[in-house]
Amino acid sequence: MAAVANPRLDEILGMLRARGGRITTPRRAIITALLTSGGHITADELTDRIQADYPDVHLSTIYRCLETLETLEVIEHIHLGHGRAIYHLADEAHQHLLCEMCGTVVEVPDALFATLATQLRAGYGFTIRPRHFAVLGRCDTCTATAAVP
Ligand SMILES: [Zn+2]
Ligand SMILES: [Zn+2]
Ligand SMILES: [Zn+2]
Repeated sequence: MAAVANPRLDEILGMLRARGGRITTPRRAIITALLTSGGHITADELTDRIQADYPDVHLSTIYRCLETLETLEVIEHIHLGHGRAIYHLADEAHQHLLCEMCGTVVEVPDALFATLATQLRAGYGFTIRPRHFAVLGRCDTCTATAAVP
């Protein structure tokens, strides 16, 4: 499990190195865990996965690595709702829609927010960063269910 041959892993580690980051065991383990989980994983879930392979890696080390990897823009955290922040790899940037009723998460391209971003910048002098939080609402299924009296 720890030694997955993955071209994307090499790519991301290369990016990390190019930005001046050292490749340490916990950093590599975090990136591997994010790749194999498909992103969207809390720090606690990451810790569980990493400690399964590397029991010596301490929780505080993992948190520190998460911060460093975020500063180097290799990963980023987002908030889906009231729950804990989740992490994903920064190179697969997308926006999230969260159904408040069933918790379904839909990933949509960042570009969908481009018009809104341009208008808000021009009209209100405000640059939005829509990725940090999910947009909340209802999925089609829940909308249909809720409509039934
Ligand atoms: Zn995501
Ligand atoms: Zn945050
Ligand atoms: Zn729903």
